[in-house]
Amino acid sequence: MPAAAKSPPTEKPVPAPAPGTGPSAVQRALRKLGLLRDIDFALYLPMRYEDETRLVRLADTRDGEMAQIEAVVTECEVVYRPRRQLIVTVDDGSDTCQLRFFNFYPSQQKQLAVGARVRVRGEVRGGFVGRQMMHPAVKAVGTALPEALTPVYSTIAGLAQPVLRREVRSGLARAVLDETLPPGAASHGMWDLRRSLNFLHYPAPDVAIATLEDHSHPAWQRLKADELLAQQLSQLQARRVRAAQRAPVLEVDSNGGKLHGDLLGALPFALTGAQQRVGEEITRDLAREVPMHRLLQGDVGSGKTVVAALAAARCIDAGFQCALMAPTEILAAQHFGKLVGWLDPLLAGRGLRVAWLTGSQKKKERDEMTAAVESGEAALVVGTHAVISEKVRFRRLALAVIDEQHRFGVAQRLALRGKAGDDVEPHLLMMSATPIPRTLAMSYYADLDVSTLDELPPGRTPIVTKLVADHRRDEVVDRIRAQLEQGRQVYWVCPLIEESEAVDLRNATETRDELAEALGEQVGVGLLHSRMPTAEKQSVMEDFTANRLQVLVSTTVIEVGVDVPNASLMVIEHAERFGLSQLHQLRGRVGRGAAASACVLLYAPNEGGRVGEAARARLKAMAETSDGFEIARRDLEIRGPGEFLGARQSGAPLLRFADLTNDALLLDWARELAPEMLDRHPDLAARHVDRWLGSKAEYLKA
Ligand code: ADP
Ligand code: MG
Repeated sequence: MPAAAKSPPTEKPVPAPAPGTGPSAVQRALRKLGLLRDIDFALYLPMRYEDETRLVRLADTRDGEMAQIEAVVTECEVVYRPRRQLIVTVDDGSDTCQLRFFNFYPSQQKQLAVGARVRVRGEVRGGFVGRQMMHPAVKAVGTALPEALTPVYSTIAGLAQPVLRREVRSGLARAVLDETLPPGAASHGMWDLRRSLNFLHYPAPDVAIATLEDHSHPAWQRLKADELLAQQLSQLQARRVRAAQRAPVLEVDSNGGKLHGDLLGALPFALTGAQQRVGEEITRDLAREVPMHRLLQGDVGSGKTVVAALAAARCIDAGFQCALMAPTEILAAQHFGKLVGWLDPLLAGRGLRVAWLTGSQKKKERDEMTAAVESGEAALVVGTHAVISEKVRFRRLALAVIDEQHRFGVAQRLALRGKAGDDVEPHLLMMSATPIPRTLAMSYYADLDVSTLDELPPGRTPIVTKLVADHRRDEVVDRIRAQLEQGRQVYWVCPLIEESEAVDLRNATETRDELAEALGEQVGVGLLHSRMPTAEKQSVMEDFTANRLQVLVSTTVIEVGVDVPNASLMVIEHAERFGLSQLHQLRGRVGRGAAASACVLLYAPNEGGRVGEAARARLKAMAETSDGFEIARRDLEIRGPGEFLGARQSGAPLLRFADLTNDALLLDWARELAPEMLDRHPDLAARHVDRWLGSKAEYLKA
């Protein structure tokens, strides 16, 4: 292994074009593919290969096989029946083959003139008119046969395969590929990186292609190992940074935990075992000097809000302030309503209160709230991200709770920094109803502790989920009537048409009118959509909560976290267009009270009379299980880990090569190596992370 160079070479981006010239179309396309630095090109691996290394005799080819031959053109003509096409016959001495081209250029016709000797590559079909190839690739003879398989890269419009191939080849040649693993660290028969990359871009023709395609080849193993190591290193670094930070120590008994105890006593229910356990975990964290960084995951309806309220009470008991943020105003308002109900009566006697902060607030109210936050009178501040806006200064912030954390970006989490004071960080409690499978959580959030509410409050009846084809809508309306007769309420979620909010709105409005007509005058049918002014949204929500409206038709603004226990039926129209976790979240709006609840997934086949494969898998999962963890597992299966975490928005680096389910051994290896490497070879570690994550490494620190 080469010794570490004195001044480590760092990766530089490809130089920007001279001013005034602007990037060329090719450069723009490369950039779109994320190909900026030499190393990016080197790590841009083929999706498949073509074997252009060998020539075969036509007589030896078999039906359905890819073959490359060299032969002489004996016939070449354009025919017009059944449609315009170029038909060429070639003969290689062993046999003949017919080549057919439907779209062709005059230059191709010229290249394939009678008597020309050509190299042809394509799939051989042995029909009964003899051998045929449709649209084969044609090359001039005479160029030497390549020694390696030819890589085929995934590309986009405006970037032709040969151009991309050339760019990758030269990027690979320029890239600095010195060893970054510490001496003796490689295992599993790992190859070194340079050899692995050269091989994967240009594999020897005798390799078993299957080992390349299933990524089990040692060259692949090396890449996956490196990638996982980079991830572990950067997370470990992040964890160490956090460990060096200080947070306010929230002693359990600095005033006897009075508010906490009072709140427990005032709740109309007893905590579940899971809530108690998680509450204790949080209490322990808050009493430490290291900032808490905990993810509270629990299925919809598992009762995360109470846990947050109790944590807030601990914080207030210690004489500090707590902030609670939700991604949308409706959700924040629901939290606020609940927390005010629970806490305000208890806070009033202490001269404290719960404050409300949101972007749409009137200035006067906002100023008043901000002042209460600054004076410390607002012991708990609930709102949207307005809570962490620059203008809001806390007197003694110690705990920040983020609901539906996956919908907040890194920037927002970073904005919390410094809100607690100069040298201290707030404790952080993130909540999510999208359970993350353990392996994923461990590898993406190595510096995050995870608490799980794995128990629903008692007395819930399971939700029955039914798939119903759209042409049976009338039966669904009957179902709604039956629920209304029992005094229950109903949600109707309208289809998701991403391109056009206007169309969404029209659909929703029509549906509302239809339902209002079908259900009769005495039934209140409300409408909720994203274009409505906040105040109006709020008042519709209030009317629904108070049962002044019995049916709520909404576009997808209907919020995760909305809590109306009397609602017992959820209808989701065009359910095939929704993501699995979204369906699960929506379904979680019902089944919150004691009444038996149901969820109807209306689906409409597309023009072909079918529902796509992934959509079918999602609907099937919904019908088969209501366990959030099982749903998450299936979602992961259907979508893959990258999308699952919404990583694109949050900026978390995706694993491009490694796969957490199948590469558990490599993950173990990386997890074991990371701490030692960071301690004993910090420069190698830094270069390794830079090589793999580049600027993305920053995100992991948030
Ligand atoms: P989520 O985890 O989805 O945010 P919520 O916190 O909104 O769930 O709780 C769902 C409902 O269950 C709320 O009405 C809440 O008051 C109620 N709840 C929470 N904990 C309990 C409990 N231990 N016993 C009974 N009801 C509970
Ligand atoms: Mg919630």
